Amino acid sequence: MSALRARLGSSTVCARKIFLQSINNSKHFAARSVSAKIQNDSTIFRAFSNRQYSTATEQKKDGETLKGTSEKREFQAETRMLLDIVARSLYSDKEVFIRELISNASDALEKFRYLSVSAATEGKQLEQTDRALEIKLITDKQNRTITFQDSGIGMTKEELTQNLGTIARSGSKSFIEEIKKQGADQASSIIGQFGVGFYSAFMVADKIEVFTRSSIAGSPGYKWSSDGSGVYEIQEADGVPIGTKIVVYLKTDCREFSDDETVKGIIKKYSNFIGSPIILNDQQVNSIKPLWLMEPKEVTQEQHVEFYRFIGNSYDKPRFTLHYKTDAPLSIRAVLYVPEGKPGLFELSRDSDVGVSLYSRKILIKSKADNILPKWLRFVKGVVDSEDIPLNLSRELLQNSNLIIKLRTVLTNRFLKFLNDSASKDPVGYDTFYRDYSIFLKEGIVTSHSPLEREDIAKLLRFESSKLEKGVRTSMAEYSSRQKNEQKTIYYLAAPSRELAETSPYFESLKKRDLEVLFCYDTYDELVLLELKEFGGRQLVSVESDMQKEPENKSESVIGAQGLQQPQVDELIKFLKGQLEGKVFDVRTTQRLDSHPCVIIVPEMAAARHFVRTQAQNMSEENRFALLRPQLEINAKHPIIEKLHKLLSTDKDLANMVAQQLFSNAMVTAGLVMDPRNLITHINELLIKALEKH
Ligand code: ADP
Ligand code: MG
Repeated sequence: MSALRARLGSSTVCARKIFLQSINNSKHFAARSVSAKIQNDSTIFRAFSNRQYSTATEQKKDGETLKGTSEKREFQAETRMLLDIVARSLYSDKEVFIRELISNASDALEKFRYLSVSAATEGKQLEQTDRALEIKLITDKQNRTITFQDSGIGMTKEELTQNLGTIARSGSKSFIEEIKKQGADQASSIIGQFGVGFYSAFMVADKIEVFTRSSIAGSPGYKWSSDGSGVYEIQEADGVPIGTKIVVYLKTDCREFSDDETVKGIIKKYSNFIGSPIILNDQQVNSIKPLWLMEPKEVTQEQHVEFYRFIGNSYDKPRFTLHYKTDAPLSIRAVLYVPEGKPGLFELSRDSDVGVSLYSRKILIKSKADNILPKWLRFVKGVVDSEDIPLNLSRELLQNSNLIIKLRTVLTNRFLKFLNDSASKDPVGYDTFYRDYSIFLKEGIVTSHSPLEREDIAKLLRFESSKLEKGVRTSMAEYSSRQKNEQKTIYYLAAPSRELAETSPYFESLKKRDLEVLFCYDTYDELVLLELKEFGGRQLVSVESDMQKEPENKSESVIGAQGLQQPQVDELIKFLKGQLEGKVFDVRTTQRLDSHPCVIIVPEMAAARHFVRTQAQNMSEENRFALLRPQLEINAKHPIIEKLHKLLSTDKDLANMVAQQLFSNAMVTAGLVMDPRNLITHINELLIKALEKH
C-alpha cells in the first residue's frame, strides 16, 4: 500500500470520504435538529418498553424452592401516572393532540357511514341519517378553549366508560375487528387502534369535557369530564346533538391552541387530507384531495402542479412525476416529484431535509420522513402512504424497522426504474435533469451499500465519449454495446474539458489502440467510478492506471529504430534521476506516447489529485513528493527528449532547466499542480536562456 493510500485510507473508503467531504463543504447551514429529535424520542420509547419488560421478567436463582400455592394478582396502575406518561412521554409535540382528536372525529364519521349502510341488515335503527357529516372546530381565545365537534357515531354510556375510561383500549380497533368478522373490508379508512390518542389532549388541558349522543335511535346524551388526575365523571345530559363534542380547557401556557391561525396551520400540517370536511370557526380548512389515493389516470397535470406546490411549499412545477400504486410486497400509494428548479446550495448539502412525507391512511405520520428514501434522494418531493405501517403508540416514534427498510427498498428501486424510463422516453428532459441533478446520483453510488442499487444508479450516469461528438452524452450500457465482447473493460479519463482530454498524453495511448474512452469532466467523477469499480460485468479502468500496466505486446518495450538507442536512454535516465532527485520516484521509458515527450504516473491518480487539491498546500515539497511518488515516463522518440540527450554533452545547465520544466509540465498535465503560478519563474529563466543568443 502506498504512503498516499495509507494516508487517505483504502481507495474505496477514501473515495467515499472524499466525496462526502466535498459535498459537505456547502454546509454553512445550521444542522437540523430532526435526527436529534428522533433519537430523543427513541430513548423515551426504549425507557418505556424496558420498564414494561422488566416488570414482566421472571427472576430465577439457583437453589430456591417454591412453597404453598401461587397467587395471581393484577398489576395496580396509578392512573394519574399512566395518564402522565401517555400525555407527556409518548408524543414529542403538544400540537399533535389536534391531529388525534380530529382523527377520532373522522373515525366516528367513518363508522357512522359504515353503519348507515349496514344498519338495516342488522336490525339497528339509526337516527337522523341525513345530517351533514363534518368535523367542526371552534377556538375561543377569551375562555382559552378549543372545541372539536363531529356528527359521527357518538357513544353510549357503556362505550364512554369503555373507550374513554380505559387507557389503551381502542373502540376503533374493536370496531374494525367486528366488521372484519362480518366480512366487510371497509376498515382501511379508520385510523385509531391504540387507544391512547385521546389522552394526548391532557398534555395541553386542565380539564376536558365530552358531550356525546350515540346515533343508535333512542340513546340519551351524556357528559363525560375529567381533569386527567385519575378520575372522571359521567352524567346524563339533554339537548346533546348526535355525535361527539369535546371541549378542551387549555392550560395557561398552551393558550396558543385557542388561536385560529395557529390551529389552522396545525390542521393543514397533519390532517389536510382527511376525507370529511374540517370546518374551523365556520371556515373549511382541508381542501386538497389526497391525490395519491386516486387512480393515476384520473389525475390531471394541473392537479399535480397544485398538489406539488402545496406539499413542497414552492412555486415551481414538477419536471418528473411518478404516481405509484402497489399492494405487494406491501401496500404503497405514492406520488413523487422531481422539481423543475435546480437544486440550491441548501439542497445540495447533506444536512438538508428530505422532501417526502409519510402518511398512513391519509394521516400524516411524519413530514420530512428521513428514512423512507435514501439520503441521496433528498431532492425528491412527495407523499408516501402505506396502510401497512403500524401506527406505533406514538406515530412520532417511527423507527428504522424492517418494514420501513422494505418500504425504502421498494420505493428506491421503483424510482430508479422510473428515472431510467424517463431517460429513454424523454431524452431531452432527462439531459437537463442530468445536468441539474447528476451530483445526487453520484452521491448515491458513493454512499449506497447495495451493489445492485449502485449498478441501477450507474445506469443513469452519462458521459461524453472519445468516439462521439462533443456535447453528446452516452451511458455505460451504450458504451458496452459498442465494444467487442472480449473487451471486459470500460475506460475513462478524468479531465477538466474535452480539449484537455483529447490532447492528454494518457488518452494518446488508448487512441492509438482505437479504444473508446469516456471523458469525465466533473471533479468527483473519477472518485465515483473508482468506488463503482465495475458495470455490467465490465471493469471500470481509468486510462491513467491502464498506463501503469506493462505493455501487452512485449516487442513494444524494445526501443525502435527511431529515437534514442538504449545506451543513450540509460544515460539520459541516469541524468534525470540525478537532477530530479527528491521529486521523482523513478524514471522509465514508455512506448505509449506519440506527441508527448513524457508523462507522470502516480499510484491512485484520483486520490492523489484530491490530495493535491485539499491537503498538499501546507506541506513541504519534499514531503509532498514523498507521498505522491511520481514516476516519470519518457518517450525516447520525441524530439525534445532526443535534444535533451544531446544537451547533456553541450550545455548541462540548459539540460537541467529543460529537465525541470519537462517534469513540471508533466505534473500539470497530470492535474497534480494546483497553482501553476509557481512554474512561471522557471519558464522565464528558460526563455532568457533561449533568447540569449538573439
Ligand atoms: P384510538 O383512536 O387509537 O382508538 P383514542 O384514545 O384516540 O384511541 O380513542 C379511544 C376510543 O374512544 C376510540 O377508539 C373510540 O372508540 C372512542 N372515541 C374517541 N373519540 C371519539 C369520537 N369523537 N366519537 C366517537 N368515539 C370516540
Ligand atoms: Mg384516536
